[in-house]
Amino acid sequence: MSLAGKQCIISGGSRGIGLSIARLFAAEGAWCTLVGRNRESLVTAVESLERKNPLQHDTYCFDVGNVNGWEKLKSDTKNQRCDILVNAAGIPQNSFLFAASIPDLDNLVQTNLMGTIWGCKHFVPKMMKQKEGCIINVSSLLATHGGRGASVYAASKAGIVALTRSLAWEVGRFGVRANVLLPGYIQTDMTEGMDKNGELSALIPMGRLGLAEEVADAALFLAKNSYAHNCVLNIDGGLSAT
Ligand code: NDP
Repeated sequence: MSLAGKQCIISGGSRGIGLSIARLFAAEGAWCTLVGRNRESLVTAVESLERKNPLQHDTYCFDVGNVNGWEKLKSDTKNQRCDILVNAAGIPQNSFLFAASIPDLDNLVQTNLMGTIWGCKHFVPKMMKQKEGCIINVSSLLATHGGRGASVYAASKAGIVALTRSLAWEVGRFGVRANVLLPGYIQTDMTEGMDKNGELSALIPMGRLGLAEEVADAALFLAKNSYAHNCVLNIDGGLSAT
C-alpha cells in the first residue's frame, strides 16, 4: 500500500519519535497534521516535512489529555479523511510512586493513556465510515517489563496495549487496523542523559539505544501492510528478550 495522498494525524509530532514518523510518512507522500503543546516546535517540525502533494501539512497545538482539543480537531477536519492516526504524544515519569506528586501522576495518565484514548475515540468512527483506516499507538517496552521509577508510566503504557488489542477486535471488520509499537530505549529528548557512561547500552543486546528513525520504519511497516492488525511490535534492540 502506498502512503501517497494519505491523511495522517500524529500526536507528539513536534519532536522525537512522532516527528520521525511524520518525516517518513511525508516523504512517502502523506499529508500530516502534527499535534503538540508547543507552537514553536510544531512550526519548526512542520517546516521540516517534505511536501509531495498539493495539500499542506498542518499543526494543532493542544494538550492531548484535554478532550476539548480533540473535539476541535475533529470538528475542524470533519470534511477531510483520516487515513492514519498515530498516538505518539507521551511524557516520562520522573520519580518513584511513593515520592511522586498526585498532580504529576494524574498528568502522566491523562497524557499517555487518556490522550491515546481520546485520539482513538474521536477518529475511529470516521475511519469506520470510510471503511478504511490505520491506528498506530506508541506504548513502551516498559508496558510489559516494568522499570524502576516507572510504575505509573508503565501502567499508562500497558493501558495503551490493552486499549489497542480490544479496539482491534471492535474495528477490524470495518476495515480499520489497530496496532501498537513497544519501543525500547530510543535516543530522544526523553532519554537525554540516561546513557552517559554507557551503562544503559550495556544492558541492551544490540549494545546501543535505538534511533527515532528506526521506530518510524516500524510505523511505516504497520501503516503499509494491509494485513497487519492487532500487532504488538517490539522495537528494542533485543531488550525484551532478556
Ligand atoms: P519526546 O519527549 O522527544 O517527544 C514527546 C512528544 O510528545 C513531543 O512532540 C511533545 O510535544 C508531545 N507531548 C508530550 N506531552 C503532550 C501533551 N500533553 N499534549 C500534546 N503533546 C504532548 O519523546 P519521544 O519521542 O521519545 O516519545 C514519543 C513516544 O514514545 C512517547 O509516548 C513515549 O512514551 C514513547 N516511548 C519513548 C521511548 C524512548 O526511549 N524515547 C521508549 C518507549 C516509548 P510538546 O512537548 O511540544 O507538547
